[in-house]
Amino acid sequence: MSTSNTQSEPQKDSTKPSSTKPHEVALNKTIYQFKIILIGQSGVGKTSLVNRFMGYEFQENYTCTINADFKMKSLSIDPSTGAELTIWDTCGQERFRSLTRQYYKDAHGIILVYDVTDEKSFKELDSWLDEIRINNKNDVSIVLVGNKIDLENRVITKEQGKQFADKNGVMYIEASSKDGINVESPFEDLANDIIKKLREKNGGDNMETEEDKIKKIGERNEIERQREKEVRCC
Ligand code: GDP
Ligand code: MG
Repeated sequence: MSTSNTQSEPQKDSTKPSSTKPHEVALNKTIYQFKIILIGQSGVGKTSLVNRFMGYEFQENYTCTINADFKMKSLSIDPSTGAELTIWDTCGQERFRSLTRQYYKDAHGIILVYDVTDEKSFKELDSWLDEIRINNKNDVSIVLVGNKIDLENRVITKEQGKQFADKNGVMYIEASSKDGINVESPFEDLANDIIKKLREKNGGDNMETEEDKIKKIGERNEIERQREKEVRCC
């Protein structure tokens, strides 16, 4: 699966992503735009996970200057389908459980992270799922990530994590942002799951609905190219 990425520039209004431009628009290639958000207890490694996915080095500490940070990365799903992810990471507000409805709004996929060495972060998962149910539509795709598996003092087993995920109907992945284990899978699995759900919902390849605000950028650009040709030739 090939990828490309862009780091967000500081925005005048940090609650809104800038308008997105496709990084890769081939003829007949459909590129979908998905909003992905990260939630979970402070300190579990959300920012580390995003940064590793973006290809940055692991750091012991991260600082942030704006309320919520977002980054963009394109994934190639198959030869005719791509996904452009806008990935929102909190800037510490999760410490006070003050993530706004706006943060959850319109998210197509959610990465819920806990730390396998921190029992509290695992026990809090139920309340995070409640928060999702309150703030987001039911068919949002969710992946649970048990992070920091590189550490020896883990207290939550793989079976416990998997069992919790199965019980709640969400996907499950164990990762280490530090060692770079499974740092791409949560994002890729989410994108694949969102596309699968859209295909099931809308039938066949007719995936575009106004409601889901999914843009078929590739097709739109092709239409624009055709229009330009018409204008030039007549
Ligand atoms: P956030 O508050 O959920 O965004 O967590 P951060 O990404 O800021 O990480 C919190 C701390 O955990 C930092 O000191 C990270 O270096 C550390 N950390 C994050 N991921 C891992 C990991 O996979 N393994 C280890 N050993 N430490 C990690
Ligand atoms: Mg963070």
